[in-house]
Amino acid sequence: MRNIKFGLSISLIFLLFFSLDSKAQNSLQSPEEYLGYELGSKWTPHYKVMDYFEYVSEASPLVTFQQYGTSNEGRELVIVKVASEQNHARLEQIRTDNLKRAGLMDGEPTSNIPIVWLSYNVHGNETSSSEAALKTLYELVRPGNAESKQWLANTVVIMDPMINPDGRDRYVHWYTETAGDEFNAYGDAREHHEPWPGGRTNHYYFDLNRDWAWLTQKESRQRVELYQQWMPQIHVDYHEQSYTSPYYFAPAAEPFHKAITDWQREFQYTIGRNHARYFDSNSWLYFTREVFDLFYPSYGDTYPIFNGSIGMTYEQAGGGYAGLGIIKPEGDTLTLNDRLMHHHTTGMSTVEIASQNADKLVSEFSQYYNDALENPSGEYKTFVIKADNNPDKMKALFDLLDKHNIEYGKAARSRTLNGYNYETGTTERVSVSENDYVVSAFQPKSVLARVLFEPRPQLADSLTYDITAWEQHYAYGLHGYALTDRIDANEAAAPTKNVNNTADGAPYAYLAEWKDLADLQMLSDLLKNEIKLRYAEETFTIDGITYDPGTLIITRNGNTQMGSAFDSKVQEIAIRHGQQLNPVPTGFVTSGSDFGASSVEYLKAPRVALLSGEGTSSYMVGEIWHYFDRQIDYPLTLINVSDLGDVELHKYDVLILPDGYYRDELNGPRMNEVQEWITEGGRLIAVEGANSMLAGKEGFALKSKDNNNGDGNEEQAGENGNEDNLEIYGERERERISSFNSGSIFKLAMDNSHPLAFGYDDTYFTLKRNSDAYAYLDDGWNVGVAKEDAHMSGFVGYKAKEKLENTLTFGVQNMGSGSVVYMVDNPLFRAFWYNGKLLFGNAVFFN
Ligand SMILES: [Zn+2]
Repeated sequence: MRNIKFGLSISLIFLLFFSLDSKAQNSLQSPEEYLGYELGSKWTPHYKVMDYFEYVSEASPLVTFQQYGTSNEGRELVIVKVASEQNHARLEQIRTDNLKRAGLMDGEPTSNIPIVWLSYNVHGNETSSSEAALKTLYELVRPGNAESKQWLANTVVIMDPMINPDGRDRYVHWYTETAGDEFNAYGDAREHHEPWPGGRTNHYYFDLNRDWAWLTQKESRQRVELYQQWMPQIHVDYHEQSYTSPYYFAPAAEPFHKAITDWQREFQYTIGRNHARYFDSNSWLYFTREVFDLFYPSYGDTYPIFNGSIGMTYEQAGGGYAGLGIIKPEGDTLTLNDRLMHHHTTGMSTVEIASQNADKLVSEFSQYYNDALENPSGEYKTFVIKADNNPDKMKALFDLLDKHNIEYGKAARSRTLNGYNYETGTTERVSVSENDYVVSAFQPKSVLARVLFEPRPQLADSLTYDITAWEQHYAYGLHGYALTDRIDANEAAAPTKNVNNTADGAPYAYLAEWKDLADLQMLSDLLKNEIKLRYAEETFTIDGITYDPGTLIITRNGNTQMGSAFDSKVQEIAIRHGQQLNPVPTGFVTSGSDFGASSVEYLKAPRVALLSGEGTSSYMVGEIWHYFDRQIDYPLTLINVSDLGDVELHKYDVLILPDGYYRDELNGPRMNEVQEWITEGGRLIAVEGANSMLAGKEGFALKSKDNNNGDGNEEQAGENGNEDNLEIYGERERERISSFNSGSIFKLAMDNSHPLAFGYDDTYFTLKRNSDAYAYLDDGWNVGVAKEDAHMSGFVGYKAKEKLENTLTFGVQNMGSGSVVYMVDNPLFRAFWYNGKLLFGNAVFFN
């Protein structure tokens, strides 16, 4: 144990007073006693939270400690299971009974115990909740607490004290080294101003409260695997918001996703009323039913809801700005102690109300899953993934479905019927064959499947602050249909590729297709192993097989220094990535260009740099960083914007500009240097908001649409002024959203003869997250464009929709020997748009 001295001496004192066995209850130390300080007087770093949780599990027979994983930086991720001694003895039965109830395991449940899951500190700098977790654990199992003893008689509580330890420790360490002996409550003090990137996110600057459905982050994958083993009836996700706000708890605000049931709404009221009782008696301010909506499926409240739980967000005033104490506008000082007390109160109140409604919670949960099997909600009953899709893309999607226990299989029989074609966006006659994969709505995870595959998710209200579309055919680049008819599925495994890479002899070259992320991962590996290769700019045919542009050509020529090791090395890499190589005996093609021709480009391993640090969007920096570090495993140099002046640009081939507020760093002389570097062969990739900085600038071909000054993403005042209507004050928010696009799916026409679109069809579905509209390039390649009626799914304001017609999304401008790649949309957003990963790779690796 890693007790501090004071903690040890307190425990010694206790031992003197009480004669105890190892798990005797009377000896249980409070967090204050164990840690040696008042909760709220300073922060408890991750390792001490772990210590206390472990200590309680050793000291109390009501608690079991379980490590379920580690964070990116190697910190432990844990839960404790809290239950009466009697329920502890049959915890495994309670767990499996719950899975049986959900239809995820065979058999009939014999117990009737609901599970409440409390998740703390998903946002690292919303620190009070892990402190509250210490107190809540203690109070739940404190020997003298008769109330909690009663609650635990019929309720199991699972507590995850720190979902995001890397982010929280980032904040806690920074604050601790920044503040003085006593906290300074004035907002001007530096301890209220976290440096970039802040503590909210995980190691790779991902918001873990946006990742529950996509599971792109290590922490989420391990947690959801555990979550799926329990399937709680109630899940609470603890947060903090602006330090000036009152406390927020359920019920949540519109828009609700239509898949949310009446019971799930109703019980939020029941819970809210119980919390209100405690808050009223303490004269604490609170609010409900505003701001926090339940639509996007990847939050810590919606994901549990779409898994049959009552999922909720509780928000305390505070956040990174609040420090240990902050003066509020009314003059009071908000302290960490206040903050943790509020979160502690709602935690206890949640367990209390769950216990009071235990039977109802369990029976409604059963009903939810019975409905899923027998009478699933939603218009569509079957989602089809056509068999002729790229097997790697299908496998990636099925891997995700497996993690959520969403069943899929092959169509039980062939049929022709009406269906929504994701690609055309229309309902038409479609045929389903026995080889096609289907996801039926008649299954335990019906609602989650519906939410992930519904072509046009229905909002009860259009006001939301997050993306409104995420359909998985679009995200994974798969053809298929949504059917209102039921088609049953026969169990079938995900498609497997038959890969055979044992070419005999010494072929002239190996050819590899260029179609998805797996191919890109293999390219990265080949380049890191210093294998020289080329890629085809045009279609060619050899040995009776036609190869598309982008095909990798790994010739023996250029790799002769490897000698006979060449073949085994190349084959070994292909096998590692599950990719098929086609060996060919000649470079003389039947049609197209020979491998030595000028249209067969040599692919030089690019040296890639990414701007980061103060002034850039930490989210986007993290998305690009994670992409190189964890997805394609290719070296990337992150350079702080403030250091750019000292960097010799010629050491890099590619420079990536993420979203950011660039000031002097990329203006004036510095910009001239960047342009000179491009002219000499560099490639600048501007992503999403970074394009607004380049638009209209001398030398850059990018121009804002209908806007001559080049910097405008704002609505044109003149246009609004001409409208013959007076704005109604009460409608102001609605009026504002007419120009709004917080995240919807658009269909792009792709020029796939350009290397930026190699590996794609002539359409690509993009997640567009703003209404930034750029004109087609006069001097450049318009590789991906949104034409008229390009909007496919999600909410977009009518003015924004109009503005985005006939605009550039992906384009390339040649500049001297180099080029500028304009990526108006970010294909790496939250790392979940699988089909965009190759596109970003094209921008990095192909000229
Ligand atoms: Zn939060």
